[in-house]
Amino acid sequence: MRILVQKFGGTSLSTAEAREHAIKHIRRAIDEQYALVVVVSAMGRRGEPYATDTLLQLINENGNCLPVRERDMLLACGEMISAAALCSLLESRGVSSVALTGGQAGIETTYDYGNARITGIRTDRIEEFLNQGKVVVVTGFQGCAPNGDITTLGRGGSDTSATALGAALRAERVDIFTDVDGVLTADPRIVTDAKPLVKVSYMEICNMANNGAKVIHPRAVEIAMAADIPVRVRSTFSDSEGTLVTGAAALQRSKDIVPDRLITGIAHVANVSQMAVHAMEGQYDLQLRVFKAMAQHGISVDLINVTPSGVAYTVFDSEADKAATLLAELGLKPAIVQDCAKVSVIGGGMNGVPGVMATIIEALTEENIGILQSADSNTTIWVLVRGTDISKAVNALHRKFQLHL
Ligand code: ADP
Ligand code: MG
Repeated sequence: MRILVQKFGGTSLSTAEAREHAIKHIRRAIDEQYALVVVVSAMGRRGEPYATDTLLQLINENGNCLPVRERDMLLACGEMISAAALCSLLESRGVSSVALTGGQAGIETTYDYGNARITGIRTDRIEEFLNQGKVVVVTGFQGCAPNGDITTLGRGGSDTSATALGAALRAERVDIFTDVDGVLTADPRIVTDAKPLVKVSYMEICNMANNGAKVIHPRAVEIAMAADIPVRVRSTFSDSEGTLVTGAAALQRSKDIVPDRLITGIAHVANVSQMAVHAMEGQYDLQLRVFKAMAQHGISVDLINVTPSGVAYTVFDSEADKAATLLAELGLKPAIVQDCAKVSVIGGGMNGVPGVMATIIEALTEENIGILQSADSNTTIWVLVRGTDISKAVNALHRKFQLHL
């Protein structure tokens, strides 16, 4: 049995017209003789009637009072509505289908309500329906804890449901349908001439996703990579094939790509704060005290720069006040710059290539953009800029590395 997993995101199901496009892709897969598992997100985005954010408004009046377990019951509803609605549409077109919740589809998770991890998938029920020739529609973003409780997988969780099902079913491929033509060289909302990437490696897309490109969830990519299942990110609204994500070896074997592409794309994360603490003469334990305090209070830190003269790092804006209070309690006086953005230049080919940093600095200097901090690894260079400079910085780097061509 050749199994294909197709995942449709919120905007791909939000209107009757969008759902027609989805049906077209489903029909084509059936015509191509695939046994088909369709993973759905909740329909639409914030403000639309069946979107998850809209369902959450139901508890707003109660000051959001709801234990995490029951909150997951509410959060999981959007996908169930979506699965039932899609099933109804398929049946009306004579396509035999069945809708399964995460638990019914055999998706087992930990008890971490709101951010559960998939621990395993019992695929027998899905396989039974596939053998009967049915399209199996599975609610994304949710699973089931060992005691039968509904759990949800955190933001972007439907992507994870899709690749985890693909891995468990040994699918030929997982198609992630969304509202853009694949993984682009930058966020199209910021860079209007961003280009779809034809093929990328798991590592490249993982780096893009981890650094803020929200087109696919990084955990979903990790699962696909571990199982070596190809993923296609593509648009529901066109027939374009989008971006193929595979292992580097498969990429190198193919003729039509440049395996040593220097720069893959530019990603960014907004709303972060820079915290800089100056060390006094002989204050050798400063770094330890700072990071222990952050860790003990669950504040995640990023872009860490440790030097003899002190430390600098970033936290999310939402945690900046808490971090500042903790530092003050340690008797420290941090310099804080709120509303910054971490801009990442990503490229597997930059390892050992001289001049990438110089080019980045040149691009930003030409636009009078100040660099507050920077760091690098062999596949990514990060620069911290002021939030007001995001668009200018991302566009300047995109152009400098000629990613629009
Ligand atoms: P879905 O509901 O289909 O899961 P998402 O909103 O989660 O859709 O993800 C798609 C969006 O990701 C796009 O509309 C785009 O604005 C954004 N995005 C950010 N960076 C990128 C990128 N590098 N390539 C493609 N899309 C990106
Ligand atoms: Mg998404």
